[in-house]
Amino acid sequence: MIIKGICQICGKPGIMHSCTMCGRLVCSDCYDSKRGLCKICASKFTQQ
Ligand SMILES: [Zn+2]
Ligand SMILES: [Zn+2]
Repeated sequence: MIIKGICQICGKPGIMHSCTMCGRLVCSDCYDSKRGLCKICASKFTQQ
């Protein structure tokens, strides 16, 4: 499913991804697709 909107971290419009932790819609620059987390959550929950 493609979600278009405005990134809730950097404010850029485009295709959004939803963070599995906080539910924020964020752009691909602000999204860690390996973990399914936005970069804010990814930095909070850094795992090996
Ligand atoms: Zn962004
Ligand atoms: Zn998040």
